[in-house]
Amino acid sequence: MKSDRVLPVAIVGGGFSGTMVAAQLARKGIENVLIDGSGRAGHGVAYSTKEPAHVLNVRAEVMSAWPEDLEHFVKVAEAEGGTRRDFVQRRQFGRYLRAVLKEATDTGLLQLIERQALEAEPNGDGWSVQLDNGEQVRASALVLAIGNQPPEPLPWGHDSSRVINNPWGGEALAAFEDLASTNEDVLLVGTGLTAVDAILSLDAAGHRGRIVALSRRGLIPRGHTNDFVPAKFEADEMPHGHVGTLWRWLRKRSAEVGWRSAVDGMRPHSHRLWQALPLEEQKRFARHARPWWDAHRHRIAPEVAQQLHDMIAEGRLEIVAGRIQGVDETEHVLAVSYRRRGTPRISEGRFAYMINCTGPLGSIARTRDELLKGLLADGLAKPDQLGIALDVDERSRVAGSSRAWAMGPLTKGRYWEIIAVPDIRGQAASVADDIQMELGR
Ligand SMILES: Cc1cc2nc3c(=O)[nH]c(=O)nc-3n(C[C@H](O)[C@H](O)[C@H](O)COP(=O)(O)OP(=O)(O)OC[C@H]3O[C@@H](n4cnc5c(N)ncnc54)[C@H](O)[C@@H]3O)c2cc1C
Repeated sequence: MKSDRVLPVAIVGGGFSGTMVAAQLARKGIENVLIDGSGRAGHGVAYSTKEPAHVLNVRAEVMSAWPEDLEHFVKVAEAEGGTRRDFVQRRQFGRYLRAVLKEATDTGLLQLIERQALEAEPNGDGWSVQLDNGEQVRASALVLAIGNQPPEPLPWGHDSSRVINNPWGGEALAAFEDLASTNEDVLLVGTGLTAVDAILSLDAAGHRGRIVALSRRGLIPRGHTNDFVPAKFEADEMPHGHVGTLWRWLRKRSAEVGWRSAVDGMRPHSHRLWQALPLEEQKRFARHARPWWDAHRHRIAPEVAQQLHDMIAEGRLEIVAGRIQGVDETEHVLAVSYRRRGTPRISEGRFAYMINCTGPLGSIARTRDELLKGLLADGLAKPDQLGIALDVDERSRVAGSSRAWAMGPLTKGRYWEIIAVPDIRGQAASVADDIQMELGR
């Protein structure tokens, strides 16, 4: 890449967020470059899994990449023999996104660079992005779409090959295979969607040992059902500004229409409800209500819920609410002591591996991404008020910089519900519009 050429837009991160901004810009005739160092451009973390047991956690009918063509993915799913109501394999959705990316690169307006971005600094009216091969990309606008940050490493077993901190990496896959051949027990730290993926991977690999999944509250995602439609709530019937009042209202409405219907009925209002909460209330929600909200709002396919239920009934899977007290590694076994919630009793378990399923990093200041670390250190980006993502304005522009935007999970402090496809595709379209306006194209 020539360093003297200034492109209109550089996008860092080629998951769903970055791919969709790039594709939206290409449709507008705006040249852009998409930089992704993982070899997964067009898939990102969620849709690069090769495991057939990993299915979408929503139905095909809500997964279009394009807000202006909501049937786009349904047509693809149907052409491949599925229906709009299916929870299709995530790798199938990954193929769909690769096709969206290819369509955009075929226009000649989108160039893909499969490198890691190490640094970005203002340069004239725009930005210079330093790549890990020593090359530089110059662009008038910068989009940060680097997704969720990997989890905080577990505080045990720093040098142990039995404590796996990246649940999506090669080490985890090797551990699943090893476990399938030995049928030894495994401890998953966390009980959310990442733990569900690990359970499905282990089962598909043929593991028949015991799986213990542990988190403070022991809440596992609930399943979808077929028998409800989201409630239609008017904005002014929902209490704004106070978590406790909103919670009581949600419980009351759940009792009337069913919790799934009530939770999904809040979705169109979620950004406004979140932004109406004062900081202290947002903190209260993040501290106390979030585990419940995540388990009920980010649900799993009914067949996956049934599978977990069966594994629990067979004694192969145990979900524990509790806290780990200590971990000792002896002769390739992890001896783990944990206290169950609400009791002083300490349980002991012996596991071949511990897998970190605690979910994305909670504090953006602790990121290990070089590019993001540099931007934060130079004041070109700053944490939002909760410290969970970047401070952005109502157009997703990064506070502290000009001509810089952030996407998806990197903006969750402002929007909260901005991690799923239906939210991100709308944000990608808005950001592309805003860039077009800013650059006067
Ligand atoms: C396991 C899983 C399952 C999900 N299932 C669903 C679902 O069924 N339905 C739904 O609506 N949502 C689902 N989601 C949520 C949602 O789709 C994702 O959160 C969303 O795709 C986020 O995409 P992203 O592009 O922002 O981030 P990511 O997918 O994380 O992509 C970011 C990319 O940026 C790259 N990158 C990072 N730093 C740099 C750098 N410095 N230089 C170059 N490249 C860099 C990374 O390698 C990565 O490829 C799921 C999420 C996960 C994790």
